[in-house]
Amino acid sequence: MKKAGRAVTTPGKKKTSGQGPGKQEGASRGTHTVMVVDDSSTMRAIIGKELEADGYSVITFSDGLEALSSLHWMASPPDLITLDIDMPRMDGFACCEKLREMESSGLFGDAEIRTPVLFVSANDTLVNRSRGFHLGSLQFISKPFVRGDISAAVSRVLRPQATYGGMNALVIDDNRGVRKMVVSCLEQIGLTVFEAENGKIAYDLLKKYIDRIDLIIVDYDMPVMRGDECIHLARQLPEAEHLPMLSLSGSGESDAVLRMFRAGATDYLVKPFIVEELLARVQVHLQLRQHVRHLQDLNRDLYDKAVNDALTGLRNKRFFLEAFAEMFAMALRAQADLSCLFFDLDHFKQVNDTCGHPFGDYVLEGIGTMIKSTVRCGDLGARYGGEEFVVALPGTDLAGAGIVAEKIRGLVEAYQFSDQGRQWPVTVSIGVASLQEHLPATAQDLLQLADQALYRAKKKGRNRVELFSP
Ligand code: GH3
Ligand code: MG
Ligand code: MG
Repeated sequence: MKKAGRAVTTPGKKKTSGQGPGKQEGASRGTHTVMVVDDSSTMRAIIGKELEADGYSVITFSDGLEALSSLHWMASPPDLITLDIDMPRMDGFACCEKLREMESSGLFGDAEIRTPVLFVSANDTLVNRSRGFHLGSLQFISKPFVRGDISAAVSRVLRPQATYGGMNALVIDDNRGVRKMVVSCLEQIGLTVFEAENGKIAYDLLKKYIDRIDLIIVDYDMPVMRGDECIHLARQLPEAEHLPMLSLSGSGESDAVLRMFRAGATDYLVKPFIVEELLARVQVHLQLRQHVRHLQDLNRDLYDKAVNDALTGLRNKRFFLEAFAEMFAMALRAQADLSCLFFDLDHFKQVNDTCGHPFGDYVLEGIGTMIKSTVRCGDLGARYGGEEFVVALPGTDLAGAGIVAEKIRGLVEAYQFSDQGRQWPVTVSIGVASLQEHLPATAQDLLQLADQALYRAKKKGRNRVELFSP
């Protein structure tokens, strides 16, 4: 543990030393200076360019010795140093060791100051990471890296508020002094913090705000509800599956620690702890949380793309077929009505040929909007294919479905499709079929019957609704 650390009982302002938030007070984007030390001119250029683009002022050195000697005449020390490990004359570790010696002997006035160091190396091994860690560096960038990696790592150290701003934590501790200290640490890195003095209050808060909380820090020994009971309850809540929960234990006894982990804690700290360690652990969890959130967003996006039609915003065929099969099974079980409509635009090829494909798209979008605004909640409209649409109507019999179909047909016929000076009358033919006395046997068969009715509508002259009859 670093001697620069402070005990939990002495809350106060963050020193400008050590790995962690660093010199953040009053610092804004352009005011941070980063020293880049790398023997490869290409690497220096890449790293320098990325950091400068992000508003940092950059000084580069091709050699550790030169970098160290320059520190003596610099007006103010750099806010962060990126260090290559494999360099001729003096490698990155030796350079960092020497830097720590110089700092301890008062290079920057205050012997407690430790300039944050970020190792950048192709040699990403556990041994190297561990050596970096013992030299006070939690940041290790593995080469080759991708655009944004360096900037994000530097930002985590120098601008934690920019990195974690907008995230929320809940701190649960009956000891007001400890609670306030933890809260102030979290606020330093930009978090908004909810506080609770016992598990019951915390649980009430969580039930309300679980979707907004990104981290829970909870004491073990508390009246009303112990920390592990609190974590156990919180884990049951929806959306709490990936929520980081860090427990604070007074004793560090393995019994208590195990109880916390069994209940669902993701990490623990023994009191008294140093602020730097609390912040280092919290930041690891928050970074993971950000990754998880990012993946969840991507998943949601992928799901949307997989089940929706991009042009009309309606569900697509894949989604419709699955949902319709479920509706069919439920209707059979409950002996309830179920109908479906099968649409096909009339002479749509001609619309495209005469007015152009973009006009055709505009018509399809319009039809989508009409379907959405006509069907009731619980009905399901989808784009089945090019200019074909389907609507499932649970709880609606053949006559009722015929009325809905007629309504949509009339709307399409009456609407003046007009776009960029082009205009064309559009009509639609619709086939309707219903589940009647347990027939047909499958959802797919029911769709087939609606398609047959549609075929009849086309044959009878288009722009009409046909109800299926055997
Ligand atoms: P019918 O009345 O017999 O249905 O005649 P139709 O011309 O509508 O039928 P056909 O199947 O011959 O043509 C369908 C047309 O729909 C051809 C195709 O280019 C067009 N189409 C399919 N998907 C899209 C699309 O996403 N956008 C546009 N603009 N046109 C599409
Ligand atoms: Mg067609
Ligand atoms: Mg058509």
